[in-house]
Amino acid sequence: MTKRYRTVLLFGAPGAGKGTQGKILGQIPGFYHLSCGEVFRNLDTSSTLGRIFMDYSSKGLLVPDEPTIQMWSQNMHARTTLGIYKPNVDLLVLDGIPRNLHQAKLLDTHLKVLKIIHLICPDKERMIERLRRRALKENRVDDAKEDVIRKRWQVYERETYPVLEHYSKDMIAEVDAMGSPAAVLAKVLEELVPVQNAHYANALSGDEPAAAADAPAKVAPRRASANGTSHAEKSSGRKARR
Ligand code: ADP
Repeated sequence: MTKRYRTVLLFGAPGAGKGTQGKILGQIPGFYHLSCGEVFRNLDTSSTLGRIFMDYSSKGLLVPDEPTIQMWSQNMHARTTLGIYKPNVDLLVLDGIPRNLHQAKLLDTHLKVLKIIHLICPDKERMIERLRRRALKENRVDDAKEDVIRKRWQVYERETYPVLEHYSKDMIAEVDAMGSPAAVLAKVLEELVPVQNAHYANALSGDEPAAAADAPAKVAPRRASANGTSHAEKSSGRKARR
């Protein structure tokens, strides 16, 4: 097996604030943030993959898995080779990937996931409002239209949410996404600082290389929680508002 990047994943519905938190974390020494959507948006729109991206994202759909994973792994390799991302120093923070179970399985050969930050928002309409405001500010084609935003939500609930089942429950931290960016950040850091310290200690001792070569994490099934509220409902707030 090739060496795997030790990483944390930012996970959550569209509008939950993964990108915002990721960008702030990326400014802190010792974290390296990479957003899959950002890598796609930086593609030359006249390239084949750039056109494929525009085609899918403008409809609120996911880009097909094989080109996505290939682009992502080439991008990671380039960043590592150029020394932009230093696996032994920086803790990798990924957002926007994996987006479905198939991607999660394909990424098992590339990633050792240490923690998943699940940003939870009990108010779906409020998150949709955030997306509308961002679309105006950032001129984003995927969030400019109401039906595209709703489609993105459907895709999240149907395809992305089940990704959590792929990882063991004890590595998932649920964080309320509804506060100010600083308030959410405080909670995210509470979870991530210990992970970063362990990553750094491992790298210093040389016991376990940052791009580790051990087996993928055990998969533990996730079901509805004891009170009958499924995590997808928690995430979208559908049950909470009933
Ligand atoms: P947001 O952060 O608003 O949820 P992103 O910026 O992550 O959205 O992604 C924008 C678009 O890029 C997605 O709607 C999708 O078309 C494409 N995309 C991003 N990441 C992936 C991925 N891992 N797999 C497939 N498509 C992706």
